[in-house]
Amino acid sequence: MAPIGESVAAAVLILLACIGLFFFISSIWEKEKRASVFAGLQFLAMLTLVIVFFSLKEIGFFETNLGRGLLIAALVSAAAGLLSLIMRIGKNPKALLGTKGLIVGKVKRPDEREIVFARNRSLRPGSEQYQRFYREHPEYEEYDAKRRLPGGISGRPGKIDAPYEIPNVAATLACHVISLSLSTPDKVKPKPPAAFQGKTNSISPCDATKRVKGFARHLGADLVGITEINPLWTYSHRGEIFHENWEDWGKEIVVNHGFAVVVATEMSFEMIGPSPHTPTSIESNCNYAKGAYIATQLATFISNLGYSATANHHRHYEAVLVPLAVDAGLGELGRMGYLLTKEFGPRVRLAAVTTDLPLIPDKPVDIGIQDFCRVCQKCAVCCPSASIPMGDPKEVNGTVRWKLDAETCFDYWGKIGTGCNICMRVCPWSHTRTIPHKLIVELVSRNSLSRRLFNVMDDIFYGRKPKAKPAPKWAQFEAPNPS
Ligand code: SF4
Ligand code: SF4
Repeated sequence: MAPIGESVAAAVLILLACIGLFFFISSIWEKEKRASVFAGLQFLAMLTLVIVFFSLKEIGFFETNLGRGLLIAALVSAAAGLLSLIMRIGKNPKALLGTKGLIVGKVKRPDEREIVFARNRSLRPGSEQYQRFYREHPEYEEYDAKRRLPGGISGRPGKIDAPYEIPNVAATLACHVISLSLSTPDKVKPKPPAAFQGKTNSISPCDATKRVKGFARHLGADLVGITEINPLWTYSHRGEIFHENWEDWGKEIVVNHGFAVVVATEMSFEMIGPSPHTPTSIESNCNYAKGAYIATQLATFISNLGYSATANHHRHYEAVLVPLAVDAGLGELGRMGYLLTKEFGPRVRLAAVTTDLPLIPDKPVDIGIQDFCRVCQKCAVCCPSASIPMGDPKEVNGTVRWKLDAETCFDYWGKIGTGCNICMRVCPWSHTRTIPHKLIVELVSRNSLSRRLFNVMDDIFYGRKPKAKPAPKWAQFEAPNPS
């Protein structure tokens, strides 16, 4: 037994040392100073163990009774430890129901007129719509009037980075061009060109699904999922107006489509690393633009096949995309109120196409987010406006979930002049998916013990309140380097 046991123990120790080294190199590559120090210490500890092991082997310690006993105990503990981290433990059957698993009572469909953006961006003081809205919702009037004083939802754009904010504000606004120009009625609800008009292409749901998903990926979607539309997640009335089409304000929104194709694009960690500074706003808007580009072409493709389709993106929503994405199996709803995906955590922006083209829906997923968020709370701890709740999820509008306070969150945006995204930056699911992080995500998505272990490890390696990182050179927001 001793020689086999010794060989297995040697192999395990060398493997652990290699993993330690890999973590160390990966942390340096990620430019994570604190993680590099801890990963370096971890590697040194593993290396010391390997040296001690081979020294003891050399003097024949493992041939003694004590040595043999220790070796067997260490091997059994290592095997038990490994099994308890990789087995599928702590399943959440409710997650597999998607948003249906969150519903506990009567849910009122959201009204786009009431969302913070629509109230502060679209409503013009003195206009007919303004008078009507605050007559019906006096509870918002004083609050909104106060928010408008510093310049609306984003206050003075880029204020946090003044006096070096101009290039990044210019880039942020440049990203709006695509979404805005793709939000006119002819773009969001495309009609087929003459060659296709009046023709419906007979296509099986299986083939249609393959083609729609393939095209979405070809256009640049990093994730694609399909769901049957739960009407609860569609807006009841139009509230956002971008093209002086005021006749649409307050119109009832009717979505007659059975399916939604939801796409997500990855936001670069490099750009959200400096959150809440201006590079993060560039990245958000850049991905909204990508979503508009993908959704518009996808909707046009479906329309050319002879089916009705509507693009939903940053400048035209008929549905609320996070719950649709949960139902389409792209991820789970996290404490911060965003979708958390296995591939990129919350670092995604969403767009969608609703359609009557028959498709094959995906199934919701259980990747352990609800359990992880219960323990973690890092976004809530780091949020500068205390907008993310601590503790357990509570009942909100007939659903049990954590509810982000959008009012206080956007007040903070107004104060600093950017979309903040600190919550996204600090989330342990946001790390760039190097091989070690892919391994960790795999473990935490299947095992509740791993979730607890890596929660603590994340605090040790990255800090309970991780600091913002420098911006890429082209998006710097500090005094320019004279060289
Ligand atoms: S964006 Fe910023 S202010 Fe808003 S919830 Fe996240 S951390 Fe808080
Ligand atoms: S930071 Fe933690 S609590 Fe917040 S969403 Fe991410 S995993 Fe959940």
